[in-house]
Parts: sequence; structure tokens; C-alpha cells
Amino acid sequence: MQYQANYDVIVVGGGHAGTEAALAAARMGCKTLLLTHNIDTIGQMSCNPAIGGIGKGHLVKEIDALGGLMAQAADLGGIQFRTLNSRKGPAVRATRAQADRARYKAAVRRAVENQPGLSLFQQAVDDLIVAGDRVTGVVTQAGLRFDAPCVVLTVGTFLGGLIHVGEANYAGGRAGDPPAIRLAQRLRELPLRVGRLKTGTPPRIDARSIDYSHLTEQPGDTPVPVFSFLGQPSDHPPQVSCHITWTTPRTLEVIRANLHRSPMYSGVIEGVGPRYCPSIEDKVVRFADKERHQIFIEPEGLDTHEVYPNGISTSLPFDVQVALVRSIEGFQQAHITRPGYAIEYDFFDPRDLRPSLETRPLQGLFFAGQINGTTGYEEAAAQGLVAGINAALRVQEKAPWYPRRETAYMGVMIDDLITQGTQEPYRMFTSRAEYRLTLREDNADLRLTPVGRDLGVVDDMRWAAFERKREAIARESRRLETTVLHPGDLLPEDSQRLFGNPLSREYPLMDLLRRPGVTYAHLMSLPGAGPAITDDQVAEQVEIQAKYAGYIQRQKDEVDRTRRLEDTALPDDLDYGAVSGLSHEVRQKLADHRPHTVGQASRIPGVTPAAVSLLLVHLKKQA
Ligand code: FAD
Repeated sequence: MQYQANYDVIVVGGGHAGTEAALAAARMGCKTLLLTHNIDTIGQMSCNPAIGGIGKGHLVKEIDALGGLMAQAADLGGIQFRTLNSRKGPAVRATRAQADRARYKAAVRRAVENQPGLSLFQQAVDDLIVAGDRVTGVVTQAGLRFDAPCVVLTVGTFLGGLIHVGEANYAGGRAGDPPAIRLAQRLRELPLRVGRLKTGTPPRIDARSIDYSHLTEQPGDTPVPVFSFLGQPSDHPPQVSCHITWTTPRTLEVIRANLHRSPMYSGVIEGVGPRYCPSIEDKVVRFADKERHQIFIEPEGLDTHEVYPNGISTSLPFDVQVALVRSIEGFQQAHITRPGYAIEYDFFDPRDLRPSLETRPLQGLFFAGQINGTTGYEEAAAQGLVAGINAALRVQEKAPWYPRRETAYMGVMIDDLITQGTQEPYRMFTSRAEYRLTLREDNADLRLTPVGRDLGVVDDMRWAAFERKREAIARESRRLETTVLHPGDLLPEDSQRLFGNPLSREYPLMDLLRRPGVTYAHLMSLPGAGPAITDDQVAEQVEIQAKYAGYIQRQKDEVDRTRRLEDTALPDDLDYGAVSGLSHEVRQKLADHRPHTVGQASRIPGVTPAAVSLLLVHLKKQA
């Protein structure tokens, strides 16, 4: 078929990575095409209907701070919100939303359809057009040709996707969707390292067949948290509860008796699965002494009876799934609406990517999402945003941009991926970040919105709201520094209650706020301390900045100490054989990884501080 169209940026795949990539490129003024198998599955959640959680919530806030969509879609689709770790320090507090699958998807579709500069087209992409060392476009299943200097591939679990339910397996991208076989074959011809991973999902249950009478109800938090910095609780649809149940001894018996029928244990599945999101059969084997396993019953939406039993992902045969499900407390009569399954798929070694997520061998070709060996909507969306921004920067002939480890969890993830690669599906945890105290959910906008504004992904409305907030924080912090509380201003019982003893002299309010156990709200309850600011986000920021100022400064000093290494670039074509003094093993590792900076080299396992010094000496000699 003779058809051709030209774009600046083509994004292949309408999942979580693809939608953020396409929206970012279009926001930056690029003529963008989102090409996907099926327009009706744009924004589809392949697995559990939930956004955020520990580490992942941080990514969602960062996406939002950079003008991305995920947080706003979660606010519009969220039917239960919680702040996890709310009793712990602000660094590890994380927002999680149970989403109404249909409402979330509709919010994504609406945003994508209404984005100026972004066109949609439904068709499978089968081939890339390559000229020399650069990509120049794509060809679809029907032979349609779309040209662009930048192509972002975000095809998720679809490349060579193989679905397993017990002994049966068939080709598929996820349940109900076709795999991408031709494209997978084509990509395997490129000079990129490829591997196989696997992930899985539980059977879904009809809630009307569950006996909730003995199960523990888990309501959301009050006041209801919001995800987006621009969001309001009134954005949310009606809120509902989740429930908790447990496996029984019978569940373990059923699984143990049928392990040989699981494709994971019979050797049929070769791909490595997510260690932190194991299947129920994996949990029973790995934690053999555990007598029972917890299951969260999560509603799939307000207009459906289906629920998602979080914790029993499985690829056991369907008859075993039925026995397994019916052995669970409250599930004795449960009706399964969709079987659980595992899926194996191709992923590409992320060490073959630049920090901009452009592939090293092919200019203009970017990868984002599950294709890079990650798992999770949030991880995918964050990469999509970065890839979309960099595709647009390349079109505009500007230098690439990527967040660093000290500025964002996105930076931690990308640095981990391109430096270490991954042998199993990679997911985000707060423990992966060394500068946790500065990379909090609550300050993601302060860290990233200004850079997003410079890049062109933050619109006027978000920028105005951000500037108002930033000024309010500065104003209130100044007021607390300069307003003094006199001992005579306080009733003795107030002083005793808040400070443990009467104030001996006058103190600036800021000093008092820094004391352990004193909150901004406490302080504002004292006569002469107000007027308090009414914006909760501003008050929270003033309090956190006051309380953690010392620790935050220490982290900043540490970042400054390592900056020289992070700022020293290593040329792509550096001949490590010519760096004198390096061991053969270190040379090999550096040649394999081809780090972009000396800082990145220092994080490759086996690259010693002595080797880093030798690299610095070598670079100095070359300069
Ligand atoms: P996807 O969301 O998969 O989107 C890919 C998009 O590309 C789709 O729109 C697809 O139609 C399109 N596409 C693919 N090939 C082509 C082509 N050739 N041409 C045009 N369009 C194409 N994550 C977790 O965090 N926890 C879990 O427990 C979990 N379990 C999962 C279980 C299953 C069965 C699956 C399938 C996924 C699971 N995930 C889980 C992963 C999560 O769904 C993904 O990480 C996330 O959706 C990846 O986003 P993505 O944008 O990279 O890809």
C-alpha cells in the first residue's frame, strides 16, 4: 500500500511509557504520532489496578512535577487512596491509589486525544526504517510508512510475548491482545543485547461470590490524599474499601501437590520473573516455613463486580487455580472471571542505552518501559517521559537531558539500568536511592518543575501554581525566622505541653519548630505565632525543610563531593586498553559497560576506587 506521512517523533505503543512519551514530545512542540495496536487499550493497566506505593509513588510525583499525566489520571480514577509509611519519616512516605481501571484508562485517553500536536493511529508496527546508523521511521502491519527522525519504542510485554496457563501456552502480548512477533524478529537483527523475562497476574474474581463477613476491611485514609500537585480530593470519584484475606493450609497443599504442572517449575518458562512480586507458587516454595500468605482484595472499579486478589499471581493450570482460589478464606464459593497467567517476553539490555534512553547503536531510536527490563506502570511512565523529552530535544537539535541520582528517583532508575543492566524485572524501591532525604515525594515539584519549565513540558497553569507555592514557602519560612516568641506570650501549660519546660528566653519560631515533637500546627496554636498559612502543601514543606535542614545539608555536601566524578564525561570511543594500570578484568568491564561518566564507572561492580583514579589520570593526560 502506498502511503507515507512525516512526523518529528513517532511513539510506538499506547501503554504507560508510550502515552507519557507522546504527550511530552507534543508538549515540547513536536509533531508527534502515537501508533498503537488498539486505540481502545490506550492507558490499559495490564495487571493490578493501582498506582504508586513505596518508591513508585515517588516516581509518580516526579512525573507530575514534569507536567506528566500519571498523577492526574490517578486522581481522576482513584477509588481508594492511602499514604503508606505515614508514621515514618517524610523520605519514605508514599502515596498509593487503588484505581478504577475504566476511569483511569478514560482519563489517559482523554488527555492523549486532546493534546495539541499529537495524532493517534491504530495499527501494529512491524518494522523500523533504518538508514546507516539512524532510524528514520516505521512500517506498519499493512505496509503503511511513517517517517520521523526519532522513534520511541514502548511495546511493553508484547515482543515475542508467550502466555502460559499451566501446560497450555500461546502467543499473546497480554491477555486479549496480539503479540508483536515481526517487530521482535526485526529488533533481534539489530546490534542490541536481548533477553527474556517473565511476569504474571492472578485470576480475577466476581465479588458477589466472595463471603466478606469474616474478612478485614481496609478503608482508605481520611483526609483523602491526592497524587497531583495540582489535584484536589474533589477530583476523586466515590471512595471504596479494600479487604484482606489469607491463604489456608489447604491452599499450600493444593499448590505443593501441583507444582510439577506449573510451567515455571516444569522448565517450560525460561524468562526470569520479578523477585519482589512473586507468583503464589513461588512464595510457597521460597518461603516454605510460612504458614499463610496475605491477599488484598482490590476492587477493579465502581461499575464492575470484578476484584483483583493481590498476592496470588499464578501460572498454574486452570483447574488448580479453581481449587487454590476456593481454599482461601471467604473464597469458598468464588467464581473466577479471568484465569491467571504468566507471560514471557523479550527485553533489551538497558546497558545499550544512553542516559537519554536513546539506543547507542541507532541514533534517533529510543526505548522506554518494560522493553528495558523494568516492571510496573510507574517505572514505565517515568522512562516514557524522559524518552519523549529527549526525542523532542534531538528534533530541536538540543543537548539531551536526564535527571541525575541526586535529583530524582527517575535518575536513580535510569542510572541503575544503564550502568548495571538487569537480570530480573527491575522495580523501584526507596532503598535504591542514596539521597533519600532529598528525594521525597513532597518536594518533587521543587526539584523538577523549574527544569520541566525550561524544557517546555510544564504549562503556564502548572508554572503559575508552582511559583505561588514556592513564594509562599519562602515567605512563611522568613516569617518564622523573624518572628520571636517571648516566654511571657505563653501560658505555662502550653509551654510545658509543647516544649517540655517553660521557655527560658525569647526564641524565633523557626528554632522552636526545629525541636523534636513540635509541628507547624502545634506552633500555630500558640498565641502570637500566627497567622498560619492555610495551604497544607506549603505548611508541610516549611515544616520538613525546618526539621531536616541539617541532614539535608549533609546530603548536599556529599553530592558536592562526588560532583567532580559525575561531571567528568568518558568519551564513547575511549580505548580502555590504553589506560595504564587497569587490571584486565576492570578493562573488560568498562569496555562492556561503556559508562558515560567517571561517576557511573565507579558504580560498576568490580571497578575499584584505584581504577577510578587511574581513569582520572588518563583523562587528564589526554586533555
Ligand atoms: P504496556 O503497558 O504493556 O504497553 C505496551 C503498548 O504497546 C500497548 O498499548 C500495546 O498494544 C502496544 N504495542 C505493542 N507492540 C506493538 C506494535 N508492534 N505496534 C503497535 N503497538 C504495539 N507490573 C507490576 O508492577 N506488578 C505486577 O504484578 C505486574 N504484573 C504484570 C502481569 C502481566 C500479565 C503483565 C502483562 C504485566 C504486568 N506488570 C506488572 C507490568 C506492567 O503492566 C508493565 O510494567 C507496564 O504496563 C509497562 O508499561 P509499558 O508502557 O512499557 O507497556
